[in-house]
Order: sequence, then C-alpha cells, then structure tokens
Amino acid sequence: MRGFFTPLAAVFALVITAMSSPAIAQKAEGQWSLAIHGGAGTIARDKMTPEEDAAYRAALQQALDAGAKVLAEGGEALDAVEAVILILEDDPRFNAGRGAVFTWEGGHELDASIMDGRDRDAGAVAGVTGIRNPILLARKVMTDSPHVMLAGEGAEVFASEHGLERVPNEWFDTEFRREALERMKSRSLSSLDVDTKFGTVGAVALDTHGNLAAGTSTGGMTGKRWNRIGDSPVIGAGTYADNRSCAVSATGWGEYFIRVGVAHEICARLRFLETMNWLSMSSTPVGAEERTYMVQLVADEVMRDVASLGGDGGIILVTPEGHALYSFNTAGMYRGRATSEGVNEVAIYGDE
Ligand code: ASP
Repeated sequence: MRGFFTPLAAVFALVITAMSSPAIAQKAEGQWSLAIHGGAGTIARDKMTPEEDAAYRAALQQALDAGAKVLAEGGEALDAVEAVILILEDDPRFNAGRGAVFTWEGGHELDASIMDGRDRDAGAVAGVTGIRNPILLARKVMTDSPHVMLAGEGAEVFASEHGLERVPNEWFDTEFRREALERMKSRSLSSLDVDTKFGTVGAVALDTHGNLAAGTSTGGMTGKRWNRIGDSPVIGAGTYADNRSCAVSATGWGEYFIRVGVAHEICARLRFLETMNWLSMSSTPVGAEERTYMVQLVADEVMRDVASLGGDGGIILVTPEGHALYSFNTAGMYRGRATSEGVNEVAIYGDE
C-alpha cells in the first residue's frame, strides 16, 4: 500500500508532530480544492486498451473540470460535488447512475449520499430503483426532509413528491454489466471476481468560503441480494464532511468500510491531531509539507486498518487548508484533483 507506516510509528509521529507543531495552517483567501474518484480496484495497464484508458481519463477530466469551474467562480462546495457526480452518474463507464451494476435478480438498486461540512447536515438514499440521479435525491433528503436517510419505496415516493427525474429500472441496463452478472452466476464467482474494479463515484470539495462537502454514489456490488446496502450511503462510512477536519468519499468493499467507519474515522483522527496542536500552545505554524505528510499518514493508517480486516478500496480527501489527497490499497483508482494553486490531474494506476 502507498504510504505504509506501522501503527506504532504513526502514533509516535502524530504525538511528536502535534507537540511541536501547534497552529493549524490557515487557508489562503480565495483558495479552493477538489478531489474526485470513479472507483478503485484491480485496474492494471495491461488490462486496458489505449482507447479505454483515454476514455476514462477524458470522463474524469470532464467531471473534474465541471466541479473546478463551480469552485473557481466562487460557488459552493456542495454544488461542485453535485456537478462532478451528476456527470459520472450519467456516464455508463462508472458503477453509479446509468452504469449501475446488476443485482442478483437482474435489476438495479442505487445508493447515494451527500454531506455539508458547515453544519454536518447530510442526506442519503439507499436501494432506489427508478431515480436517474440518486445524488440529487440525496441532496433533497438533506434539504427538504427532516431525515438523513431514506430507503426503497419510501425514498421513491419522496422523489416523486419533489419532482426528481424518474426512469424505468431498465434504463440502467448495460451489456457489460449484464455479462458480469452472468459470469458470476454461471461460475459461482464472487462480485470481486467479476468486477475487478468497484466503479463507485465520489467528490470532495473545499470552496472559497472555507466550506467542505462530500458526496458518493453507487450501484453497489454485482449480484448483491437481500437489499444489501454498502458504505456509500452510510454517513461516516462512505461519506463524511466536517469543516473542522476534512471531507472524505470512499470506494471499495463496502462491508469493511462500514465496519471501520472509514470516512468519519479519518476526520476524527484529524480533529484529534488539531486538538493536540492546540494543547501544545505554541505559536509555530505547521509547515504545509508537514501538514500534507500528516494528513496522508492519517488516511493511509485508516486504509491500512481496512486492509487488516481483509477489505480493499480507497478514499479521496480534502482538508480546510486545501490539501487534496488520495489513499488506496488497490492496484489503481480512477481519480483526479484540482486546486486554486494550479494542480489539475487525473490518474488511474497506482504508480502515477
Ligand atoms: N463501496 C461500494 C459498495 O460497497 C462499492 C464501490 O465502491 O464500488 O456498495
């Protein structure tokens, strides 16, 4: 795994840094940051044709540009997250919205969530079958209902009452996803054997007003049964945003991400770090490089915990100071990041 540290070394580094590096680096005026993902998994160069490689990069770049435009124009982090996810949900290459995987019964059940770092307001939907863009429904749950999570038929009724665009479940059918389900059934394979990549989509953003947001959308895992729900709509597992610490969106084997509480765990550890900084009462500001190192270390540590239980996948993260980072324990992750400092990149494989 990238950025590997032993738990003891990590704790030691945290304490030493916390004691010697007190003040939180402040975000500069007008600064923004964005990170996106389109799923992690066994994504290897030799399994991709040059055309597929280029098509994935173009799709990621289009989504990244849409989110970056919102932020560069002074828009809200929530709107940037939504803009990114809408594009990826409508792209059949990704396992979210249009390209959602098949359930065991041959249908599609979609999950999504979104969170506002300002007040930790959140909205999520699970197991919806006829909503074109589940991320819009998740946001409606956040803004127009007293709840955080709606599921199944009730969520569909709520969607109808709020005028969300509806599509028949077959609208999510794609041939290559159907073949994956058939391969799984005919050879008694697991969903990980037939889907070498996860394909969930997500975005995290820091806007120029200093607010964070996170969102995630997925079709889940191929051949899922019994209304199985993964981490993506679970606030704290697949998605979390808190202006005091970070915004995280995850992709991977959802059961493990729920068990670790990945997104919240990373943010909680970063808050702990800030508390330690504050307690040390020194006025020396933490260097930008040192901060980046620490944030990466925290994210890698939590992903190492996922791996220690047997899970795999990855996360994207932004902080209030503008870090935009990835951490994954798979061969690759469709990903991208852009910042007001001029960073603009998309990547697929672990070695780039
Ligand atoms: N995390 C998702 C789930 O378990 C799968 C994915 O990331 O593609 O439902």
